[in-house]
Amino acid sequence: MEIKPFYVMEILEKAKELERKGKEIIHFEVGEPDLPVPEKVKKEAIKALNEMEMKYTESTGILPLKEKITEYYCETYGVNASPEQVIITPGSSPALLAVLKVIGEKLGEIAYTDPGYPCYKNMLNFLKVKSRKIDVRAENGFEIPVNEIESPAMIINSPANPTGKILSRERIKKLSEKCFLISDEIYHGLTYGKRAISALEVTEECCVVGGFSKFFLMTGWRVGWVIVPKWMVKEITAILQNIVISPPTVSQIAALKCFDEEVLEELKENVKVFEKRRNLMLKGIQELGFKVPVKPEGAFYIYADCSKFSNDSYSFTSRILEKAGVAITPGIDFGENETDRFVRFSYCTDENKIEKGLEKLYKHLK
Ligand code: PMP
Repeated sequence: MEIKPFYVMEILEKAKELERKGKEIIHFEVGEPDLPVPEKVKKEAIKALNEMEMKYTESTGILPLKEKITEYYCETYGVNASPEQVIITPGSSPALLAVLKVIGEKLGEIAYTDPGYPCYKNMLNFLKVKSRKIDVRAENGFEIPVNEIESPAMIINSPANPTGKILSRERIKKLSEKCFLISDEIYHGLTYGKRAISALEVTEECCVVGGFSKFFLMTGWRVGWVIVPKWMVKEITAILQNIVISPPTVSQIAALKCFDEEVLEELKENVKVFEKRRNLMLKGIQELGFKVPVKPEGAFYIYADCSKFSNDSYSFTSRILEKAGVAITPGIDFGENETDRFVRFSYCTDENKIEKGLEKLYKHLK
């Protein structure tokens, strides 16, 4: 079985070890929002814990949450979907695994982008599904080259980890005409200046994966979802019945509260916080000499070319951690396509820490 290490976890562990020894470390490596979950959501969870027994729910999640997610998609994107197509999972990761299994078996091969979220390839390897790497290049603005797609299915991610790239409606439409799309929309809601397009807006024959870990700030609560065509519901349900039994009960009840008008407003306000951080970090790292081929328009990452300093992203990030006290993720975590000359900065930390991190980098690199 070929499962590659996740280097960002190694960097995080090393960073924690240095912190235990008393060294101050600025964290630009983690892809987890630092902002607190809205108070109303927390209170709803506490109320549920006090008043309800936490038994398993239906394997595919509670109906009121499926209904809310359906309503949210229909209103946000102007699409048609029904709650029976929505399947709730413990975080979006098991949803991805189940969908990759069903589509992999049915269509035989799934394409993924490089650089891209490493778990796609690792899950495909784990499932023994044939996969094909599609290079997205800095000089082409990290666009997916539609003409190169020959696989019957592809997994896309917009806004993307690690590039922050948002795919246009036209590009998603063209891709959907070439292959079956599995669209990882986990970073939807976290966009700056434009809205991300859902694959459901261009075709009903696709799988859309989403979740509460990013825009909704609920990483550790483990709630995600997938919207699938009706013909897939039975198979996906059977997989989830066997491997997860049910998503966490208390987290589903808390997640329902996210669709409260006040909570949604609060979450939308947070997007402005992330946008300010992006602007600050982008300016800072460009001034330091990192090149950013595409201004990231979503998620909370900046994918930067570090070739002015090094063409070996892993030793570069190790050195930066030890000498400057700043943790960043080496590009090699995201694939093989020129990833040695890239690093990923995450801005899941406040503006003071961003300034401090930039200062530490400045002292070391100059
Ligand atoms: N897709 C992408 C692109 C991600 O970056 C992540 C989290 N890092 C996930 C899916 C999985 O998130 P979760 O299981 O918390 O929903």
